[in-house]
Amino acid sequence: MMRTQVGWFTTQAVMFCVVLGVSLAPGGRVLAAAAPQHSRRVVVVDPGHGGKDPGTTGVTGDQEKNITLAVGREVAAYLARHDIETRLTRSTDRFVSLEARAALANRLHADLLVSIHANSNPDHSIHGFTVFVAPSASARTQALARAEMKALIAAGFPSRGIHRRPYRVLVDSQGPATLIELGFMSNPAENARLCNAAVQKRYARAIGEGIVAGLKR
Ligand SMILES: [Zn+2]
Repeated sequence: MMRTQVGWFTTQAVMFCVVLGVSLAPGGRVLAAAAPQHSRRVVVVDPGHGGKDPGTTGVTGDQEKNITLAVGREVAAYLARHDIETRLTRSTDRFVSLEARAALANRLHADLLVSIHANSNPDHSIHGFTVFVAPSASARTQALARAEMKALIAAGFPSRGIHRRPYRVLVDSQGPATLIELGFMSNPAENARLCNAAVQKRYARAIGEGIVAGLKR
């Protein structure tokens, strides 16, 4: 309710200023100060790897960093459309340290950091997505992980469940953090799906839906 009102007043103020041709700054500042700092949920979307770090390589030579970026950008776009303040740790093919990824979420007091990855295994028959949380994951983090898993299952992706791992980006995050391994680039069929733009969008939409549902709880 509060959010809608602030949005309405902001819209009115913008329209008013446009009509009069005056500076937005005074009205904008007052409205910003009146709005609660955390009226909107904040989610940091973290496309794994990037730049000099390609991540794993698929059976046909595709690089993990490109898949995580494509899916990550789609997740961010989905969340932004659903009134969630969204930040990407990288929006281009560049290297970002693991420390910097978690630090961004901590600085923003993010409601969730979701890290996107794709997996590999010597056994090429292994496939499916996995959601990871830190060994000391809070109940809130576990609930968000379950919501992501549920949405991915509903979208038809095979699940390998939720597992606890001390991944740096998870352990360093002070707020809720999950890491999703979308699937295995070592599995020829799954690799083909992971590299397909339409399937990447399906992954992203499911993850977005899961996050939106999880944050509402
Ligand atoms: Zn990875």
